[in-house]
Amino acid sequence: MNVPIEVKFPDIERWKRGRVAAPGERALPWVWTYAAPIAGPHVCVTALVHGNEVCGAIAADALLDALESGLRPQRGRLSVVFANVEAYRRFDAARPFASRAVDEDFNRLWDGATLDGARDSIELRRARELRPFFDGVDHLLDLHSMQEPAPPIALAGDTEKGLALARALAMPEHILVDSGHKAGKRLRDYADFGAAERSRSALLIECGQHWEANVGNVARQATLRFLEHFEVCDHAALQRLGRGLAPVPRSTQRVIDITAVVTVRSAGFRWRRPLRGLEVIAEAGTSIALDGDTDVRTPHADAVMVMPSPEPKVGQTAVRIGRVRAMTAA
Ligand SMILES: [Zn+2]
Repeated sequence: MNVPIEVKFPDIERWKRGRVAAPGERALPWVWTYAAPIAGPHVCVTALVHGNEVCGAIAADALLDALESGLRPQRGRLSVVFANVEAYRRFDAARPFASRAVDEDFNRLWDGATLDGARDSIELRRARELRPFFDGVDHLLDLHSMQEPAPPIALAGDTEKGLALARALAMPEHILVDSGHKAGKRLRDYADFGAAERSRSALLIECGQHWEANVGNVARQATLRFLEHFEVCDHAALQRLGRGLAPVPRSTQRVIDITAVVTVRSAGFRWRRPLRGLEVIAEAGTSIALDGDTDVRTPHADAVMVMPSPEPKVGQTAVRIGRVRAMTAA
């Protein structure tokens, strides 16, 4: 696959040392925390959970620039995290998809059994290092991007609070209600973030294709909306931070419920034809792929193809299939 790289990768090395909000706290590399004198929630923006998804690094770099220039939270705590910098450092424009991870997907490790287990990898070491930090975060915005060109999508998880957070940002237009991947739990679903009865929440936003020109802009606007929603920073300060950014409209959002997850079972998996992100296949039973002897068909009419993976491997998600939820009066 030949995809143009239209964005500049920020040099983030200056953010390595990390920052703690109070003396005596343990500094973690690539984790920056600022505290307000007034109590409030601890909100966090994560970048580079996937190493080649530069949009988060662009947003985090810009936000840290502002924080280091004097911006401060007005209540609670604000943290900025670069998650998998080892992978980001390996980015090679000649093999741009290779630096999603070093050893394994950082975003499939977030259940107790895996984190407490015996397996070892660069990503697991980093996840174990960050786990106590994330245990102290109340609300998380996790910035991602997609392999295939597609409109941005918010991944709300399968709880009402996740959907409410996606709606509170009023962007992007599409919200996915889903419960993740068979291959492992995502950070956005980790512990209380994914527990319906807990108030701590998380939202993952896929800001567009990994390297399309607008992807950093979407990530920065989403960050500003997130901070605004939790009243973490002064409104006027956030307005200043957003000056010069291309506007992202507050849209009437459409909710897509995931009805099926196609997980690759055989090495011979192949698509019938390439799928576009968010394309809708009208007819139920349309064959979309062959997985060994199995003909993979759309399970219902008007099936939305969510984040199809062009060359999925065994055990990975090939595509998720959804249905647009009927509009209800909000
Ligand atoms: Zn990602």
